[in-house]
Amino acid sequence: MNSTALPDNPNLVDHSDRPRTEAWLRYAEDLNLGPFYRSRNARSVLVSIGEPALQSISPVMNAAKAAGGAARPAPSTQELADTARQSTAPKPHSAGIIAPASVSSLFDARIENDTLESIREDIGPNCTRCKLHKGRTKIVFGVGNPKAELVFVGEGPGRDEDEQGEPFVGRAGKLLTQMIEAMGLRRQDVYICNVVKCRPPENRLPEKDEIATCSPYLLRQLGCIQPKVICALGSCAAQTLLQTTQGISRFRGEWFDLLGTKFIATYHPAYLLRNPPAKSEVWKDLQKVMALLGLQTKRRSAP
Ligand code: URA
Repeated sequence: MNSTALPDNPNLVDHSDRPRTEAWLRYAEDLNLGPFYRSRNARSVLVSIGEPALQSISPVMNAAKAAGGAARPAPSTQELADTARQSTAPKPHSAGIIAPASVSSLFDARIENDTLESIREDIGPNCTRCKLHKGRTKIVFGVGNPKAELVFVGEGPGRDEDEQGEPFVGRAGKLLTQMIEAMGLRRQDVYICNVVKCRPPENRLPEKDEIATCSPYLLRQLGCIQPKVICALGSCAAQTLLQTTQGISRFRGEWFDLLGTKFIATYHPAYLLRNPPAKSEVWKDLQKVMALLGLQTKRRSAP
């Protein structure tokens, strides 16, 4: 796990606070507000200090493990449907304490010797695991530096991406590229991928079963790359990775500990095309990422 000096941000996890968190959890359980976790032995508890209350990441992580292994079989539809049901079941309000994981770090779930290429091979050139394959032209796996410190996760391919087989190459993609460059990086310095690898028809939101089928491969990608920061673009990626149904505006720009990896969500570039004033909010979020990665601000304003 990368060790990174954390900026002075009250939303970052402070593991020294664990005894207080455990006491809080016991108190909450006494009040029948729990359970918030599976095992108190888990080292990492996903916490955002204060709001919002988020849910367990563990169902997704378990699905990631299920998508790996020696022969790397795809998880069964039933398994994933169960996972999706489990992870979307209503949970009690947890006042900012998030359920822990059955693994202590995103990278503990890493499959030995896993590589981006083996993940791509496992998905295969003609994946039919979910119904999105029916309207797809090309599978959009992901692109960029396999050792990137920063990974952007979007929702799913649009028309341009589906035609070219590369994420974020359309209008929203051009804006994302500008955002990356405003951070002082090049597109090839970061890694860019999506929750689902095939285009949803008419650019609709990916559905739960599609996300449940495809997100284990996303988690394997994240486990291989081991970035310092994961930045979710838009609600779909944010809600999938944090396993929450809360609206992104409640938690964008906040730091989370996603099983040992710094996680932040910001608005999707497609939303910025429709709502340009929100660019300044996104730029603030990206500046937080830059601070954490030790990148110098080159511009003062949003791209
Ligand atoms: N929107 C996304 O979420 N991903 C892409 O790859 C393109 C547009």
